[in-house]
Amino acid sequence: MIKNNSFERWSIEDSIDVYGIQNWGAGYFDVSEKGEVVVTPMGKNGGTRISLMDIISGLSARGMHMPVLLRFENILDSQITLLHENFRNAIKEFDYKGDYKGVYPIKVNQQQQIIEEITRFGAQYHHGLEAGSKAELIAAISFIKDLDACLICNGYKDEEYVDLGLYARKMGYQCFFVIERPGELPLIIERAAKLKVKPLIGVRVKLSTSAGGHWSESGGDRSVFGLNMTQLVNVVDTLRKNNMLDCLKLLHYHLGSQIPNIRDIRASVVEACRIYSGLVEEGAAMGFFNLGGGLAVDYDGSQTNFTSSRNYTLEEYCRDIIEVIKASLGDIPHPTIITESGRATVAYCSVLLFNILDVSFFETISLPDKMPKNTHEHIVNMMDVVKSLNSKNLQECYHDAVYYRDEIRQLFKHGNISLRERALAETIFWNFVKNIAKEIKKYKYVPDEFEKIDVSLADIYYCNFSVFQSLPDTWAIDHLFPIMPVHRLGEAPSRQAILSDITCDCDGKISRFIDLHDVKNTLPLHEFNPEKEYYLGVFLVGAYQETLGDLHNLLGDTNVIGIRLGDNGDYKFVGEIKGDSVEDVLSYVEYDTDDIISRIRAMAEDAIQHGRILVEERREIMEAFEAGIRGYTYFEK
Ligand SMILES: *Cc1c(COP(=O)(O)O)cnc(C)c1O
Repeated sequence: MIKNNSFERWSIEDSIDVYGIQNWGAGYFDVSEKGEVVVTPMGKNGGTRISLMDIISGLSARGMHMPVLLRFENILDSQITLLHENFRNAIKEFDYKGDYKGVYPIKVNQQQQIIEEITRFGAQYHHGLEAGSKAELIAAISFIKDLDACLICNGYKDEEYVDLGLYARKMGYQCFFVIERPGELPLIIERAAKLKVKPLIGVRVKLSTSAGGHWSESGGDRSVFGLNMTQLVNVVDTLRKNNMLDCLKLLHYHLGSQIPNIRDIRASVVEACRIYSGLVEEGAAMGFFNLGGGLAVDYDGSQTNFTSSRNYTLEEYCRDIIEVIKASLGDIPHPTIITESGRATVAYCSVLLFNILDVSFFETISLPDKMPKNTHEHIVNMMDVVKSLNSKNLQECYHDAVYYRDEIRQLFKHGNISLRERALAETIFWNFVKNIAKEIKKYKYVPDEFEKIDVSLADIYYCNFSVFQSLPDTWAIDHLFPIMPVHRLGEAPSRQAILSDITCDCDGKISRFIDLHDVKNTLPLHEFNPEKEYYLGVFLVGAYQETLGDLHNLLGDTNVIGIRLGDNGDYKFVGEIKGDSVEDVLSYVEYDTDDIISRIRAMAEDAIQHGRILVEERREIMEAFEAGIRGYTYFEK
């Protein structure tokens, strides 16, 4: 897509095209006339907007270093509003008699700032929380004030978990226990009798419908969670025996996260409705139909059923669910519908920003006019091959060149050619690869062996962040996030790059990028000028990335800034959370930093005793170590 025609000036529209910001931005992100990425947290027509570069200068003025994770509270609010409004509209359109209640699953992003904002803003819609462990349940209870909001307890439950949930019920919370395994029911019955609470009980079922996408095994017959039909019937029988069928109120299933195809969603609703009807026929109280998560995010903006995308809009999702439930349930009273959308609720609100530290690229070293005297014949032959390259003999030349390169490497190994000769051979070879890349552009169909040639020639941009800490899914499951420069968008991006982080792990890189068709191997970027900062943003990172991240190479949590925009385009930083210091991360892996400092001090003292350093130098050295231990774990300037 890069324009070759130098007469045509690069425009901001071209950048919008190349990076696809309007495809994946959901109306929250755009490019300003200054060529900077702007955030419009109330959506396109909401008026206020802010440039990420303004935020970056505000941060550096305050001495906040990159990398930084921004959280836009208004975007979170907008996503919650959209979810509820779309369900409300669909309910009206189909004259559905039940209600809709949203629930946010804490595991998707557990940070207090997020939970606090969802429960604060969501209260007007009675938006609830889903907990999957004791810790999440305790956090949930402490933030929900609205007793009409649902509190869903999933996950493995021990006696303590059950008791906490029962106490919440006693206090008036709509706290549901979702039975995931048959063994949980006797415990709930026993503790409920003991604490004299009538519990709200739900059942999680395994559907035979499965879905495409990364997480397809969360649903379906092979899922480790949920009851099969025999177990479900046993639960009903046990409850009936204990006179508790009126406690069974909720049916739950979760197909998996990021379900790209609406047909899978519809099919699962149909199957679950049959189970719901069956439970009503059995005499269970019912009244709640909980579809779990799965509402996908269109990370690449392609609107397809590709794993990084979705082939439906939020409006279609809501309409399809309401329509199918209404049609499938027949005469059965319409239940309250619950969804547990995590990803779609929080993905958009967070943006990761980092600066580029350095770039490495293939320098075009011009080939010598004449070969040095006594050059090995293989090298001379290789040079001849390179000179004979044209668009007709590409593959033949390539095979010959690879043959000579490999022979030359063998010769070097056996001591038959010098280091300098080998270096000359490599220069010739890479020059040749560059020429092939140029020729290949004229081809309509690129032969398989040249498909990744652009990657081998791409620049490497070194980025001040850790993939493992901040974007773990790109490493773990090849997840794609939109990435682009946040400024200079009026300039043509003249380089093709892959990204490397600052861990020393060869997996600490990003070499797959979003595209409307398939996946791109390189990212167009602007030429890097070491004198000037160049900033990239990774977008839609609010879901799953923060706590799945790890301390690879002991690079810690990044700085985090919450941002709230006012109606007049003003903004304020809310909830500033300083990233980990070196001391923090060392303590996570059980070091005692006082002990570390005294060990270094002892080594310094020893160095004085043996005359390796002077006493004054010891002071300087110790000051450097003490400052280092208090510093940020990332690259500081
Ligand atoms: C993880 C999870 C969710 C969240 O799914 P999303 O696809 O992120 O919306 C919802 N419910 C359950 C039971 C989960 O385990």
